[in-house]
Amino acid sequence: MASTGPYSISVETEKFLYKLVIQLLIFSQGSHKLLEPHLLAIGARLRSGANLQDLLGELQAVSKTLLHISKQAKQNLETTESDSVIGQNDYVIRRLDELLAEADVPLRFQQQSALLRQRVRTQHSEQSYKKVIDSAIALLLNIKDYGAAEQSGVDVFLEDLGVQLGTIEQQAETVGQGNRLSINNRDIFNNDIHRQVGYLKESTQSAEGLDDLKSHTNAHLDRLLEQLLEHKQIEDERQHEDQQKIELMTQKLQDLETETETLRVRLKIEHDKALCDSLTGLPNRSAYNSRVEMELNRWKRYKTPLTLVIWDIDYFKRINDTYGHKAGDKTLVLIGQLLLNNCRDTDFVARYGGEEFVMLMPCTQASQALEMAESTRKMVQDCGFNSNGENISLTLSCGISDFNEGDQLDDVFVRADQALYQSKQQGRNRCTLFAL
Ligand code: GH3
Ligand code: MG
Ligand code: MG
Repeated sequence: MASTGPYSISVETEKFLYKLVIQLLIFSQGSHKLLEPHLLAIGARLRSGANLQDLLGELQAVSKTLLHISKQAKQNLETTESDSVIGQNDYVIRRLDELLAEADVPLRFQQQSALLRQRVRTQHSEQSYKKVIDSAIALLLNIKDYGAAEQSGVDVFLEDLGVQLGTIEQQAETVGQGNRLSINNRDIFNNDIHRQVGYLKESTQSAEGLDDLKSHTNAHLDRLLEQLLEHKQIEDERQHEDQQKIELMTQKLQDLETETETLRVRLKIEHDKALCDSLTGLPNRSAYNSRVEMELNRWKRYKTPLTLVIWDIDYFKRINDTYGHKAGDKTLVLIGQLLLNNCRDTDFVARYGGEEFVMLMPCTQASQALEMAESTRKMVQDCGFNSNGENISLTLSCGISDFNEGDQLDDVFVRADQALYQSKQQGRNRCTLFAL
């Protein structure tokens, strides 16, 4: 047994611990700057023949330092994790903002959507992230249900229209039957008249005197008159009934026409709204999607040039952050109008989403489009836009590409977008024509 001081350990144990200290020393060298001074001190003591007992003070210092280092490492890990949660939240919020901008929001939900987008852009805490996301999900579900209800309203109307048309068809059929009855009736009446005239002839030939002839003739003429009146009455009644049926049918048809017209107008308003951006009044992304398809077909058929320009407001986030979202919205409206006013009537301008606009220019070479884009860019640069009397520096960048043989829609968009990216990379406030 070898032992000194408060510890009582065997020689083997002491040897083992001694060896362990040397191994730890070699292993830990260079691992952490806070450990270094202690490791150096232990090394020096070992070299001068110190035993475990002599090293005890330094080893306790090493132990404390290790505890300190591990606490620090844990704190760093927590901070990194919460940073990545915030990063994830930012991503979700950005996507949410884009989703709300892209959704075709029916009129009755537009105010709610605008408020929500404002909240999306201004919320900060973890708690409000959750609330905003819940509200956005609820809004999108409401919009979906509303769309389904609208559609089922139209379905019910169309079903009802089918039933009503069926009723009118049946009534038209009974009027037709009435006409057929009337024709039958006339045939019977004609036969009767023929028969009565035949009797009259026979009785004239077989009459035995003037009185006899008179009385036979009178009897047959009375009968004829009676039948004539009877026939007239039946025909009058039938005509009256048919007249009533026709009036009823006409009324029903008029009602249906009015209802159909109301529905047509309502559907048109809804359809127009679905294709219109509520802030700028320009066509929206859905409208662009159908227009570009139409222009593409025309381009394939007539082979006249077709060019696409994608516009993006420079540093728009800064405008929002500095002057507020109202000023941001006002800027979007103004830019939309400037773009619209500076192109031809045959060109098509749409708000593609956020602060991006697209312009389709039929019968326009890419180089001509570049010239026009340059003049629009300069005009915006010099427009002297201000918010509450304060000048706002406002510039646009764009990317341009024309349609080439064999192009699909996406190919042209990707090229114009790459050119836009180049404009941004080269300092913004510029127009770039896509070049290979
Ligand atoms: P860059 O020059 O690179 O295009 O920078 P940017 O700041 O214009 O682009 P970024 O994509 O960072 O920011 C676009 C901003 O546009 C963020 C978004 O909140 C804002 N935005 C999108 N839609 C609307 C809107 O309808 N109204 C307002 N006021 N802001 C909007
Ligand atoms: Mg953008
Ligand atoms: Mg921008």
